[in-house]
Amino acid sequence: MIYIDFVERHNTVASSPTLCMHCEEPLAPCAQVCPAQAILVSSDGVVQSADETRCIYCENCGYACPFGVPKFNVAGHYMQKCNLCYDRTSQGKGPMCATVCPTQAIFYGTYEEWVAVGRGKQGAKPVNTFYFGRQRLRTRNYVVMTQDDEELDLMALVDAVNFGKSSEIPQSLSTYDTEQWVDAEAAGIPQRMVPPQPWTPRDPAKQPEPAPTRGAKSP
Ligand code: SF4
Ligand code: SF4
Repeated sequence: MIYIDFVERHNTVASSPTLCMHCEEPLAPCAQVCPAQAILVSSDGVVQSADETRCIYCENCGYACPFGVPKFNVAGHYMQKCNLCYDRTSQGKGPMCATVCPTQAIFYGTYEEWVAVGRGKQGAKPVNTFYFGRQRLRTRNYVVMTQDDEELDLMALVDAVNFGKSSEIPQSLSTYDTEQWVDAEAAGIPQRMVPPQPWTPRDPAKQPEPAPTRGAKSP
């Protein structure tokens, strides 16, 4: 499950999809703060949606996620989020959002595959390092920025638009009496390998054979 924001709806039809970034370092803050261990991180690093039978609807994961990804199913009292369409990707297919995107703005594949198909030729560059104040975050998903970008400092962007500007950045979490974040390497989750079926442009679907009309003689 992903959700779509409109950028400036009065000016443009452009939209911005928000996917789970499948955080790697620290590993899935949403899962680490879940008191019910409802969020599984698969051995290939995919952060799953909450197990509805375990989720107690405390919303901790929503507060811990730096991208605001977990959404709460009010009627069902459980959290839902993008799980990389695990039913598809675990079988070698692309996630549904990337498969149906008419402009292929969402790419499913490795960094190397993205470069190999020529997506970086217009000065674009995938970035997977983000700063939220003093907290650094590395994710398995990338956001496409420009060639000059190494990381995305969201607090600096907020400052740049002078919105919610704060003179004091909160103290780093390490000064509090909290457990250290675990990262994917410490958890024994390997770096993402090239998928068995690398991304390729989709072939157009085959048109079905027209059904024989009633009364027509077979050749
Ligand atoms: S809302 Fe559910 S999945 Fe999220 S932290 Fe609470 S119990 Fe875990
Ligand atoms: S982006 Fe949010 S929901 Fe996804 S793994 Fe990171 S903390 Fe969890």
